[in-house]
Amino acid sequence: MTYSHSSIETYRKCPFQFKLHYIDRVQKEEREGIEAFLGSRVHETLERLYKDLLHTKLNTLEEILTHYNRLWDKNWNNDIVITKKNLNKGDYHNLGEKCIKSYYSRYHPFDQTTTLRIEECLDFYLDNERKYHFIGYIDRLDQAKDGTYEIHDYKTSGYLPIQEDMDTDRQLTLYHLGIKGFWKDIHKVRLIWHYLSFDKEICSFRSDEQLEEVRKETISLIDEIESREEFPSVESPLCDWCEYWRYCPKRRHYVKVEGLPANQYLSESGVKLVNRYASLKNNLKEIEEEMEQVNKKDTLYLMGVRHASAVSYLLWQ
Ligand code: SF4
Repeated sequence: MTYSHSSIETYRKCPFQFKLHYIDRVQKEEREGIEAFLGSRVHETLERLYKDLLHTKLNTLEEILTHYNRLWDKNWNNDIVITKKNLNKGDYHNLGEKCIKSYYSRYHPFDQTTTLRIEECLDFYLDNERKYHFIGYIDRLDQAKDGTYEIHDYKTSGYLPIQEDMDTDRQLTLYHLGIKGFWKDIHKVRLIWHYLSFDKEICSFRSDEQLEEVRKETISLIDEIESREEFPSVESPLCDWCEYWRYCPKRRHYVKVEGLPANQYLSESGVKLVNRYASLKNNLKEIEEEMEQVNKKDTLYLMGVRHASAVSYLLWQ
């Protein structure tokens, strides 16, 4: 099997989701979220900016925003899901514009580095025996004037991680491993994340020891996956974004009852089971409390019996 950063991360978070997606190849429910939609349009816009630069064409900000708007309209469809109730399509569209504008003004005229690759597919092995096959996509690979190579990654997420998170990030570490054999002069590699909605750049480096550690850890995770027979479902806040609810033992009852009227909902077998479980759990708590009281009484009673026996013994003496 070929592995990627996302397949490994999926396994780490929920082995069952990994199995459904990467082993059983179960068709996903198509519910593209607006965050993913926005991320794709911004990536495509920056891709155009740098591809044109390779041909010495420097687009104006207006041209690049026109391109973004064209991509947005061309790809938009009404099935795109907006989960945050207080935000709408226009808010996300404006956020994309803001990301592009701030990126453009920060790096214009984009001559800090030489761009070598854009949206590059990395296809490599983690070992010399070519057993552990890995793929990944680099948003942009550059070389700085001092010879340092740079792996750039664009993020449109609304969460800004701290430096420590990026110093231990596995994805770009693996990409660093992936480019190592590209050219003989790759000695120093800077990993750069562009958190576009914050207009923030975060950089990090990896030592040879760190690269080796991640390489070994990833190989051992792959070994674990390949020797596994059971792939348990593991619930987490990420379930809210999971597209396999109807197949998941932890969530499938939500899908079954979705859209049923309230009285039918309450008689649905999955819901009955959950309610019965909650009621038994309550009863169990009451029983445990009662047993504790009884135990206390028993102890007092035994203490009383022992005391009475001791008194009788003394009187008899
Ligand atoms: S809903 Fe949650 S527990 Fe179920 S498969 Fe998806 S991620 Fe795993």
